[in-house]
Amino acid sequence: MTIIINMRDKIDIRKLRVAASLIREGKLVAFPTETVYGLGADALNERAVRRIFEAKGRPPDNPLIVHIADFSQVYELAKEVPEEAEMLAKKFWPGPLTIVLPRKELVPKVTTGGLETVAIRMPAHEIALHLIKLSGRPIAAPSANISGKPSPTTAEHVIDDFYGRIECIIDGGETRVGVESTVIDLTEWPPVLLRPGGLPVEEIEKVIGEVRIHPAVYGKKVDLAKAPGMKYRHYAPEAEVIVVEGPREKVKERIRELIAELKKKGKRVGVIGSEKYEADEFFYLGNSIEEVARNLFKALRYMDRANVDVVLAEGVEEKGLGLAVMNRLRKAAGYRIIKV
Ligand code: AMP
Ligand code: MG
Repeated sequence: MTIIINMRDKIDIRKLRVAASLIREGKLVAFPTETVYGLGADALNERAVRRIFEAKGRPPDNPLIVHIADFSQVYELAKEVPEEAEMLAKKFWPGPLTIVLPRKELVPKVTTGGLETVAIRMPAHEIALHLIKLSGRPIAAPSANISGKPSPTTAEHVIDDFYGRIECIIDGGETRVGVESTVIDLTEWPPVLLRPGGLPVEEIEKVIGEVRIHPAVYGKKVDLAKAPGMKYRHYAPEAEVIVVEGPREKVKERIRELIAELKKKGKRVGVIGSEKYEADEFFYLGNSIEEVARNLFKALRYMDRANVDVVLAEGVEEKGLGLAVMNRLRKAAGYRIIKV
């Protein structure tokens, strides 16, 4: 049985207490954050955390992010807290930034995917913060999707994947950012960007100086022991996805040609982008990069349901939020990319 709590319009502390006590009992609660919906459990309860992996079908070496509501919790979870962590937290928390630090023994290895490090974040969402505070526990929460599916940005997405399989889903409406958090590893110097996300890496560099971008961010094949999440195909719709990258006008032209070619072969074609296209299915992403990021996963889920054979996606410039958008698109495409 899954309890669905509707909190789209206003926060109800009494209902949040119910959800928080489920967390304390080792149950699974999906909740909204500003990035995407998370599938939460008590981060310090091994059995509860194991259930997250089972429910998602997530490989056990893909670590979880631990969510906190107060900076002091960092000292409970991390063995060493460098000054840079404090500087970043002060500037960007609560917000879409995850910081990787050496873990304390208290944090079970199940939670960290077997690693000696722990990833920590304070989400900028009232529901998430209340839930963490009321439960009195740090909450481990990966995105609330079945492994390999696009991350959920609405409670409906979570219901599609988990109804009847977890104890509670809190509906807080659409998420604001739409892509997952930026993950930065502070156990190395210079710090390493492991995953681009809702906070542009340029913003991080303004605070702590040069950041090295892990080659896997661009899809390069490298030793992925440090960033196990990166080796798995993610955000993969059932259709074949092709990303078309280059100057905007050229991209538009090439996508129009591709639509015609594919139609001739009898394929059903979907397009996602910010220009208008005549295709079997079209999902408009929006004008600004913020809108594109917010709508990206919804568009991929839409195409999944629309029964198209091929999805053509417009590439975007890889700066600011664009780095995260392109990273997700390339993964969805399994690196099928056309450069024009
Ligand atoms: P998800 O919550 O599904 O967006 O996935 C969390 C991602 O955070 C993982 O796939 C990793 O890329 C990253 N992550 C979490 N914990 C660690 C860690 N200890 N070291 C490196 N990366 C981590
Ligand atoms: Mg995920």
